[in-house]
Amino acid sequence: MSELTAIVGHDAVLHRLRDALARDRLHHALLLEGPQGVGKHTVARWLALAGTCERFDPARGPCGACPTCSRVLAGVHPDVIAVGPDPDKATPTIPVARIREVVRAAAFHRYGAARRFVVVDPAEAMGPAAANALLKTLEEPPEGTHFVLVATHVTALLPTIVSRCQLFRLTPVDEAELTAWLTSRGLDDAARLARLSGGCPGHALSLADGGLDARKDLRDQVLGALAGDLQGIFDLSEALTKGRRQDWTPRVEAVLGLLEELLRDTVVVAAAPQSGLLHDDLAGPLAHWATALWPSGVTTCQRALHEARRDLDLNVTGKTALDALLTRVATELGAARKATAPSPA
Ligand SMILES: [Zn+2]
Repeated sequence: MSELTAIVGHDAVLHRLRDALARDRLHHALLLEGPQGVGKHTVARWLALAGTCERFDPARGPCGACPTCSRVLAGVHPDVIAVGPDPDKATPTIPVARIREVVRAAAFHRYGAARRFVVVDPAEAMGPAAANALLKTLEEPPEGTHFVLVATHVTALLPTIVSRCQLFRLTPVDEAELTAWLTSRGLDDAARLARLSGGCPGHALSLADGGLDARKDLRDQVLGALAGDLQGIFDLSEALTKGRRQDWTPRVEAVLGLLEELLRDTVVVAAAPQSGLLHDDLAGPLAHWATALWPSGVTTCQRALHEARRDLDLNVTGKTALDALLTRVATELGAARKATAPSPA
């Protein structure tokens, strides 16, 4: 069975899409928004499969086995067009030339499928010129062509793009449902993976695939840097942001996600020390964080996290964003250290 015919979660979204397909009322421009790893890409591919399947069943979705499904699943059906960033470029953007090419292709007759799908993922990778090149087609697409835009933050898209699309928000998958799904895939420690992934199946799978060890290494490095001096912080952010933007983006995202989790655990420890921690092996350090940061320091750090995300959306370098964020958190932790340390006589 294909992963696309057994999607975990997103029942309401899939129901709406199945219903729209069954009534032949699918919007010509759809926008799927949701956190990293939640399943946006999977749902977009599912939709392309469902919308072209020769034996589509409104109750069950695409068959996954007909000749069209086979070609779509193999990524070789010309009526399903994937548009993504140019992997060879330093900054991962979708070139305006690629959008123009797709717009031209969308005007041709279809190659036999009932509908044509153009999946733009991630839509944030379109710069203003590329987005503008898509606008008119998004407004009046050729008959039978559907554009599916995939985005983590719709706020990073041009408002004129967003306003032309029907928005579907993908929310984290229920923890028990995700645990059952991970168990059915034969993964050990499914409950822990589900909890750590924050309801994002893609994230859970990467944690299972060696990600847990990498995650612990990163955590050790970040906690070590935060407990040391500024130079240690700058060295760490330098090491994490080496290479091209698409190379360091996942590492920077991982640091942001980690700090988010540690702050969440800090609140849990401050409020009710016994309930489920994401980092239940960090009782000592978390107790220190709770003493140092609760409550105003947590708010300050959360604001710094929010600003780092916004800056990264605005194309600030990873080094600049991480330097500012880690320095802020270290200062908050250190301020409390200084306040509680005995003053030199
Ligand atoms: Zn099929």
